[in-house]
Amino acid sequence: MEVVQSTLHRFCEASGEKVNLNKTQLYFSANVRHDIRMQLADLAGFSVTTDLENYLGVPILHAKSSRNKFDFLIERVSRHLSGWQSKLLSLAGRITLTKSILNTIPAFVMQTIKLPSSVCLELDRIMRRFIWGSTETRRKLSLANWDLVSSLKNLGGLGIRPIQRFNKAFLMKLAFQFITKQDSLWVRLLRDKYIPPSYRSGSHLPGHDGSIIWRGIKSVWYLTRGGCATLIRNGRNTDFWRDNWVEDDKPLIEYLSEEDRPSINPVMVAEFANADGKWKWDKFASLLPNSTCLRIASLLPPRQSAESDRLYWCSSRDGKCTVKSAYNSLLPDNITSSHTIWSVIWKWGDPERIRTFLWLACNNRLLTNMARFKRNLSSSGQCPLGCPSDESVLHVLRDCSVAKVLWNDLGVKMIQSGFFQVGILDWFESNLRCTYVLSSLPWTIIFGVTC
Ligand SMILES: [Zn+2]
Repeated sequence: MEVVQSTLHRFCEASGEKVNLNKTQLYFSANVRHDIRMQLADLAGFSVTTDLENYLGVPILHAKSSRNKFDFLIERVSRHLSGWQSKLLSLAGRITLTKSILNTIPAFVMQTIKLPSSVCLELDRIMRRFIWGSTETRRKLSLANWDLVSSLKNLGGLGIRPIQRFNKAFLMKLAFQFITKQDSLWVRLLRDKYIPPSYRSGSHLPGHDGSIIWRGIKSVWYLTRGGCATLIRNGRNTDFWRDNWVEDDKPLIEYLSEEDRPSINPVMVAEFANADGKWKWDKFASLLPNSTCLRIASLLPPRQSAESDRLYWCSSRDGKCTVKSAYNSLLPDNITSSHTIWSVIWKWGDPERIRTFLWLACNNRLLTNMARFKRNLSSSGQCPLGCPSDESVLHVLRDCSVAKVLWNDLGVKMIQSGFFQVGILDWFESNLRCTYVLSSLPWTIIFGVTC
């Protein structure tokens, strides 16, 4: 306590500031005995507290982060989404507002704190309900499910980020900084406090619970380490077997049998090259598959005179882990391949309202009679204008007798020969990409507006 006080004293002298006794409180961790707390409090002259509440709008948590600590977040997001203006918004407006709220209110807290799952799910639910115009009392129909809404835009989604994944991406960026910015004060502080000297890079972090920030970093540690690779220079701080340093490959220890792995001691990459800069193939080639050996052969062996090895993030061009690249690395691999139509739609001119309409149409999510019939909202899926066919998206927009007259009046036969024959996505794409100009207006604009 004397050290703390003398530090404070020196700080006050240097800065000319004073400690406000009314606003200063002492917080003790659970392991400090009651009598010691009292002694220290007497010495310091500060009162004792059990909760430091918020700092810059972010709760300073000591115990496990509980749901009610984040009620303020849920309340703030709800309040912003339920204001009177939002009732007047179109679907496009509601999507834009959701994204902007998501990128400001929860993002602020999510940068350093792992939110409890129940909070993430509740925030997702609030956003989902808002996008489709539902309120607590009035439920509206969702035209697309959450999986589609939260898919990336180039995969046909709206690019809304589910909170839990978004939160993970923020924490991965923080963990990456922790791994790469070894000299920063905050990194040194956390490292000295939580990582024992026996810790070996590449393995799981030791089981300390630690502070809220540390718990956040720990929760994504393995994901972040797994997404990093090492650029070998002098090879002296990269474990040959456990670190990820062979491009497009896994840590080499994974090629050894489960029984052999524990007996492998950490050996640095530098040990596997001669002083004359050649790989010592006899030390490892027989243990690894051919394809991996070829990859190693394509790498420059470590050189004694070179600088330290550098860790980089594999999913970005410049090797830095950003929230966006971390987020994308968390997306499932097996998502259906993208279609070029989506980039065409989102690049189409304004207004956003029409782009959103085109997005719904291309995803077959317009509330046509067919869609209503499938949802048991209508007794028949037929076109209400008397056509002998079902009212699908393509029927409403193109094939219905009324629509046909309109398109023909616009002169589509002259613009595109297969206009009435092609499938829905090809139809949208060929027309939205068309370079034809009709009465000094680009056809793509006329087409989008007419739809
Ligand atoms: Zn019709």
